[in-house]
Amino acid sequence: MRTLLFFILFISGILAKGIEEYRPISACARYNKIEYRLLRSFRFQKSHYYLALNPYTLESHILDAKRVVVSSCSQNYFNSRYYKLLDYSTAAPYPLQNDGITHGSRGLYLSVDLCPSSHRGYERRLFLALIAQPKHPFPVTLFITKRWILRHFKAFKELKEWQKKGLLDITWGNHTAYHRYKQKNILKHNFVLLPKEHLVNDILDLEVTLLNYGVIPSIFFRFPGLVSDRKSVEIVKHLGLIIIGSDSWLAKGQLPKEGSIILVHGNKNEPQGVLSFLQLLQKRDHLEVKSLKSLQ
Ligand SMILES: [Zn+2]
Repeated sequence: MRTLLFFILFISGILAKGIEEYRPISACARYNKIEYRLLRSFRFQKSHYYLALNPYTLESHILDAKRVVVSSCSQNYFNSRYYKLLDYSTAAPYPLQNDGITHGSRGLYLSVDLCPSSHRGYERRLFLALIAQPKHPFPVTLFITKRWILRHFKAFKELKEWQKKGLLDITWGNHTAYHRYKQKNILKHNFVLLPKEHLVNDILDLEVTLLNYGVIPSIFFRFPGLVSDRKSVEIVKHLGLIIIGSDSWLAKGQLPKEGSIILVHGNKNEPQGVLSFLQLLQKRDHLEVKSLKSLQ
């Protein structure tokens, strides 16, 4: 009954800040005979839950802690796609810009950043074009921020609805809650490298926001401005998230090639990037776009 109540409230997105004691953990566990990596622990109405990842499908789930058996990680876990991608995406060297996975093996991957923006509305035309594609539902990863959600709540609700109706295959990526930026600072001291940044809180705050609105966060993370250093990469790894960069930032004229992770902005900050993608959709009938969850 307790689990049922949670899921009814969760699916309707009315947990209304009901999530408490949200904290990162790192352990393997069994649930219904499947091995999961536990990522976060939290309480809802005094009951205990986990945010957990299936390391083979890269799908995240909410599990009732009462039915979870914490166990040591199997050899299969260390050979899983998740474990390999986590290691690969956080390995040295640590470039100041565009660290993490920037391309896959084949096909294309579409990522849309929703950084804080004072623009009214959002790139609705992009999502309507995706919904109209023959590939259905069209896979897209949104790297979202809390500041964008709170200022564009109607748009956020619309995106959630499209996913719920099966019109889009959305993976909800983490782009931090606050996405801090100081115009006068050089990159080395900007975005998450600003002195007052608390990266752990910034990441967890976005996850709690998504959960409170009925969305399960994925394990994909993109650094604001694609700017990071060794310390911030290690923090993200410690939280169990896979870092995603891009080798095709369309507004910068970086055209996609086989395996590219495409980056456009869905917040109206770079309309030319969205336009380039729409032109690409028109030009190529069978654009093979895949979910980041299929990365090898
Ligand atoms: Zn951003």
